[in-house]
Amino acid sequence: MSDPLLLLSTLVFTAFAFAFGACFGSFQNVLVWRMPRRMPIAMARSHCPKCKHAILGKDNIPLIGWLRLRGKCRFCGLPISARYPLIEGAVATLGAVLFLLIVVGHGLTLPENWMPQHTLSWLSEFPHCEMLVVFLHQFVFAYFLLTYALIDEDRQDTPWKFLLIGLIFHVALIIWEPGMNQMDRLSDLRQRELPAIATWESSAVQSAAGMIVALLISGILRLLKTPHRPTNHMQALLLTGLFLGPLFTLWASLIAGSSLLVQLLGSRLKKSAAPATGFVMQLFWAWLLIIFTWRWWPAVQWPTWPV
Ligand SMILES: [Zn+2]
Repeated sequence: MSDPLLLLSTLVFTAFAFAFGACFGSFQNVLVWRMPRRMPIAMARSHCPKCKHAILGKDNIPLIGWLRLRGKCRFCGLPISARYPLIEGAVATLGAVLFLLIVVGHGLTLPENWMPQHTLSWLSEFPHCEMLVVFLHQFVFAYFLLTYALIDEDRQDTPWKFLLIGLIFHVALIIWEPGMNQMDRLSDLRQRELPAIATWESSAVQSAAGMIVALLISGILRLLKTPHRPTNHMQALLLTGLFLGPLFTLWASLIAGSSLLVQLLGSRLKKSAAPATGFVMQLFWAWLLIIFTWRWWPAVQWPTWPV
């Protein structure tokens, strides 16, 4: 990082990823409110949930709008929930951190031997770096998962159409760069076939296997009568299997399940009716944990796929 141009570009692009995340966070607030209520997403303008007055364009800027109004509606003066700027801030931070970790840091914490070793700075390869696709793939996944988690926390059901949109995004990114969903078996692929290039077929097999694992786990959750909405559990798990394959789905579910169990036992001991956060939110935290520690997870020797 001695090169001033590199440092400046890193700052500018990270700021851009933050702003891009903030706008997506703002849109996420719209999705979480409108999708379960079957309201149109794109057409209607945002309005104050209390006085129904349309929100002015200048007040609708992510984070800044809420701060400038000091959390109160311009028209009725009633407080606007801090949840909106918090989600915008969280998605903005997610965009910036994932960009630094994956693109600038060349996937510092992702499984080893993922993509040929990068010796040059990220900027010299931009925009032809595969890590950019990895960044987009992980960001889209996290965004969808967080949307499921927030709808689940509201005890609402997510329409299945949303999973279909996730599928379209995933397929588009896989066509661009197959192997996004096979991070934990790319070094394995490389050993068998040089130059190891993940194919669409191996990618499809990985997604299909991930979704079968997801169906099994959601079946177990349904049998155990896990709190919150079963449809959100199933869709979020299918999304995880589709994007990241069977092994990731299994690990993430184990982490999410244990964390949920601890919370449930805790609330039982305290005899409080305080509701625990649901499985999907735990799955999101599990993704976050794995993405920052993935390189140090035990490697798995995969069986040879018949493709
Ligand atoms: Zn109002």
